[in-house]
Amino acid sequence: MDKELEIATLGVRAGQVRSQFQEHAEALYLTSSFVFDNAAQAAARFAGGEEGMVYSRYTNPTVAMFQDRLAALEGAESCVATASGMAAILATALVHLKAGDHVLCSNAVFGATIQLFSNILGRFCIETTFVSPTRVDDWRAALKPRTRLLFLETPSNPLTEISDIAALAKVAKSAGALLAVDNVFCTPALQRPLELGADLVIHSATKYIDGQGRVMGGAVAGAKSLVGEPMTAFLRTAGPALSPFNAWVLLKGLETLQLRMTAQSAAALELARWLERHPAVERVHYPGLESHPQHELARRQQRAAGSVLSFEVKGGRAAAWRVIDRTRLVSITANLGDVKTTIIHPASTTHGRISPEARAAAGITEGLVRIAVGLEAVADLKADLERGLS
Ligand SMILES: *Cc1c(COP(=O)(O)O)cnc(C)c1O
Repeated sequence: MDKELEIATLGVRAGQVRSQFQEHAEALYLTSSFVFDNAAQAAARFAGGEEGMVYSRYTNPTVAMFQDRLAALEGAESCVATASGMAAILATALVHLKAGDHVLCSNAVFGATIQLFSNILGRFCIETTFVSPTRVDDWRAALKPRTRLLFLETPSNPLTEISDIAALAKVAKSAGALLAVDNVFCTPALQRPLELGADLVIHSATKYIDGQGRVMGGAVAGAKSLVGEPMTAFLRTAGPALSPFNAWVLLKGLETLQLRMTAQSAAALELARWLERHPAVERVHYPGLESHPQHELARRQQRAAGSVLSFEVKGGRAAAWRVIDRTRLVSITANLGDVKTTIIHPASTTHGRISPEARAAAGITEGLVRIAVGLEAVADLKADLERGLS
């Protein structure tokens, strides 16, 4: 479909292929394999000489529609869907790295991503150095001749630090390395990393792309030479494929992505402004606030500031837990990307396994509370938080 179309239009229309029945909604092809007209066609499909469906580990029409729609949204030549966000990151690493290679990774990425690079890939002699998401000079200084991949997530979680994608793309290019951006928190509705010079965009579709907390999924988008060809071959051989059912749910999620991201960002901004004025709150971390240290960069790089914010309650852990425990509406869960607002205390949950010193150095204080704002009325969210704040 025409890449000139607006994001909202692409989310609804891109990638759809109709069967001979001319169904209006996208069809769900729950089938593991596909039938050939004759032996010669089977041989041609297996050899790759003829385009067409073979087996749902690597070819399925519903999964293909999801891939094509997400590729259009990211402005990418190609997209490959995976079983989860972590499967997308693992597939990226296994396709683009080999033993002896070096990776530079932001130290403020998703917890499982840090474990994957340091523990699992470390056992296969892929070395990773973790660097500050915001200090571009640190990335340049940490480059080695063997550096092949730069990996980041922006805004970061839970402190919403912003990495300068265009500046880090230049650092990657100067070293002959690839830049991969985990775009989970913004989605292409708010940020298109490929336009800023990134080589690969990674998604946990489990979060905002689904948007309603139903299924697991992941994806990688980028040039055909980096994604379409090598990663499809990897999926065919290694198997972390997305289920057609999940792809169908995610296709429907993409239809409302722009609408949800815009509304949830607006609600988060209103809540952040209210929290910033609240006498019980020490500090609010949200890129949409003028007080955010990288507010200008966020404005340049993103269409809106996203739905995730965090704030420090005066009085440390006891005060933070009181805010969480006095809520009746929002869900106490570490997940995010749902239309239902969620709340969590990072220091004792998502960041509970790191040492208190490392946690303090990273800015994850005992009073910090993270909220991923959903689609409830902001007045109701304020009232829910006010109970524990006052
Ligand atoms: C959740 C998440 C992941 C992992 O995705 P799964 O679908 O849970 O495997 C990766 N990156 C970020 C930023 C996430 O929030």
